[in-house]
Amino acid sequence: MDPRSRLQEQLLRDRERIITFVRDLVRIPSENPPGDTTELYAFVADFLRKQGLDFETIAPVPEWPNLVASFDGGRGGKHLVLNGHLDIFPAGDRSRWSMDPYAGEVRDNRLYGRGVSDMKAGTAASILTYLYLSRIRESLPGKLTLTLVSDEETGGVWGTKYLLENHPGTLGDCVLNGEPSTPRTIRFGEKGPLWINVELQTPGGHGAYTHQSPNAIKRGARLVRELETLTELPFEIPADVNEKIEAARSALDEVLGFGATDVVKSITLNIGVINGGDKVNMIAADCHLEVDLRAPVGVPAKRLLSEFERVLNKYEGASYTIAGGHDANVCDPNHQMVRILADNAQSVRDVRPYPAISIGGTDCRFWRERGIPAYVYGPTPYGMGAPDEHVTLDDLLGTVHVHALSAYDYLMG
Ligand SMILES: [Zn+2]
Repeated sequence: MDPRSRLQEQLLRDRERIITFVRDLVRIPSENPPGDTTELYAFVADFLRKQGLDFETIAPVPEWPNLVASFDGGRGGKHLVLNGHLDIFPAGDRSRWSMDPYAGEVRDNRLYGRGVSDMKAGTAASILTYLYLSRIRESLPGKLTLTLVSDEETGGVWGTKYLLENHPGTLGDCVLNGEPSTPRTIRFGEKGPLWINVELQTPGGHGAYTHQSPNAIKRGARLVRELETLTELPFEIPADVNEKIEAARSALDEVLGFGATDVVKSITLNIGVINGGDKVNMIAADCHLEVDLRAPVGVPAKRLLSEFERVLNKYEGASYTIAGGHDANVCDPNHQMVRILADNAQSVRDVRPYPAISIGGTDCRFWRERGIPAYVYGPTPYGMGAPDEHVTLDDLLGTVHVHALSAYDYLMG
């Protein structure tokens, strides 16, 4: 039997083992904030050690360790990097959960738990892909690197960003990541967020003497309405990207809700926070707004910021600070890896995914910004960041199988 068929057989035989492994990951909380992943890290490290696999711990912040493991068949070829994060969202109010978020409970062929969809099922796919392929390394050309990071949910500065800047061995030729994508899509790009804090200040005064000072809250309300015009700026999405977005339209709208594709193609505005004023009978002297703009591919963050400034400059006493953001990012939607993933998804799951753009963000952007193609294929996230988060066992197993076979095919092809 050839190595690929053996790999396929092994994956099917290991069904229960794979599920147990993900349940074990779920049972170790790694909430970020605070982001201490040392216990989960120790579990994964121990797992790899028991399999006889070497790795390097890179921990610029001791509580947020990152893991890098690599093997090279010594026959030249391509370098594939697997990437997943260990940190997860906090479980929030436990009373809103139907079960213990850290019990790793399976009900009706679904695995429940905080962080299982984002992204312990996907991270397990990376770890197990690395393990399975390491066992047949003699028959594999190229190089495979596993990167597990602990700082994704809060920005990646000490995780992926740090690895790419300080450990060039993690750059690779192509990246595979198991963040949630649903079986219907392969993600090849992401929108770009731009988060801005705005302060509006006026002299203020007695609420009856409205002639004496403008009201900062009313000014803020006008500003919010005018910021809405930013969503109507003209721009153009590159033709090849737009073509893929349109081809994935029905798949994406089906999995993310009707209108998702329009959001992918639009500048969106969310006002996440507003506060100001002191008392009902005083003229509000201050108003604080937190603005969350999202740019599609084709609208650089710089342009969106200058349009924002153009609006804000009309408001006396207004100032802002940037709270975060980056450009939308994209890589080749026609890359060999997209076809490989789609072919394997088709044969394993009987669902052919479309290349699509994500509304949210992943660490893939750090590779894409360096011109390295990075693709996301993972489960449907039920209850992501909400109570009763779960994945179906089909999605869990499907993600592991598709990752392992695709990594194999990429290195061989
Ligand atoms: Zn994630």
